[in-house]
Amino acid sequence: MSLVQSVESKAIYMGRLSHGCDLLMELTRICEEKNITLGKITAIGAVKKAVLGYYNTDKFEYEDHIINEPMELLNLTGNVSLKDGKTMVHCHVTLSDKSGKALGGHLFPETIVFACEYIIEKFDGNKLSREFDKETGLALWPVEKS
Ligand code: ZN
Repeated sequence: MSLVQSVESKAIYMGRLSHGCDLLMELTRICEEKNITLGKITAIGAVKKAVLGYYNTDKFEYEDHIINEPMELLNLTGNVSLKDGKTMVHCHVTLSDKSGKALGGHLFPETIVFACEYIIEKFDGNKLSREFDKETGLALWPVEKS
């Protein structure tokens, strides 16, 4: 059975990240500071460099893509929940290069902000805690086994 639960919007924060900060770590820090353990994140901007992941579903492991050039941050979409009792921010990004070509992946630390405007929405609802999932090898929200 798929997991379905309703949430209610509790607060919406919007702002700008500082130049040179770590995109994922700074979004996580803001969520911790604002006590957000359930929510959604969107952002746009540009990055100086990026570390993205592609999850190899045969090997059950992430392959890293390190992009050592400035890229446009076309879209960041993410969610906030808990893992091991701590705030966990999970984001995917779409970036574009000088020629406008896009690529994307799972956002890892060491993606450095050039400029970034974000919106974080805090939800009220049942807490979601990630657990190790045998079928995928990932830390996912639990579903009832059918
Ligand atoms: Zn991911």
